[in-house]
Amino acid sequence: MDKTEKLNQMIKEAESVVFFGGAGVSTESGIPDFRSVDGLYNQKYDFPPETILSDDFFYGKTEEFYRFYRDKMLCLDAKPNAAHLKLAELEKAGKLTAVVTQNIDGLHQMAGSKRVYELHGSVHRNYCQKCGKNFDARFMLNSTGVPHCECGGLIKPDVVLYGESLDQNVINGAVRAIASCDMLIIGGTSLAVYPAAGLINYYRGNKLVIINLSATAADSSADLVIEGKIGEVLSKIKL
Ligand code: NAD
Repeated sequence: MDKTEKLNQMIKEAESVVFFGGAGVSTESGIPDFRSVDGLYNQKYDFPPETILSDDFFYGKTEEFYRFYRDKMLCLDAKPNAAHLKLAELEKAGKLTAVVTQNIDGLHQMAGSKRVYELHGSVHRNYCQKCGKNFDARFMLNSTGVPHCECGGLIKPDVVLYGESLDQNVINGAVRAIASCDMLIIGGTSLAVYPAAGLINYYRGNKLVIINLSATAADSSADLVIEGKIGEVLSKIKL
């Protein structure tokens, strides 16, 4: 039996599947990840992305933060790819109970997924730090310099920056989903960013699948490892 057949069989036998993903899920939509060859870590900036996307940098060098953020993080023309679409289809069919994502691009929701735990927030929500008014991503993209609300407050994306804590309600939901599913598919993530990557340890079942272009730290504990493009692999799932 080849790996695709095995994946199909495992999904068929599973009662509730959870998907845990990262930036690699959106590379086939044209959004660069962090750690691949074309990823943001391998492009030249005055500071590494991790430094720019930190709370210290946001408050200390706000204009520079926004230059990078508008240029690299607001990919508003990107469309869901085969991976996002198949996961939404699996949820609709009653197979998949949740998507837990480290991505901030909103593509799972655009594909039709309903239960999505966004561990690192979303570029689609932006709040005035003073009055709490919400601004959409298009407003942020069209703004220049440091975006301010009409009340004068600084607008901040609802994205978890390095140095900030994850939202406890989102973590609780993600942990509950992972701990109670009988199949966990991990895909498109280096599993290098904590605490997000640590959440997979709540899985207790015997159907752990990893679909990634490069090796991950969880490969040795997986029941099936598929080295490949997540969109290509997931599109072969038959419902
Ligand atoms: P990462 O960049 O550390 O790792 C991406 C992984 O995906 C790599 O192991 C790579 O080999 C693999 N990959 C790339 N394209 C793939 C494909 N088509 N199919 C299968 N595997 C593929 O990403 P991460 O683990 O998510 O951690 C980076 C952090 O950066 C996250 O916290 C995330 O919030 C943030 N980020 C998000 C986006 C986004 O929202 N789209 C983009 C860049 C970074």
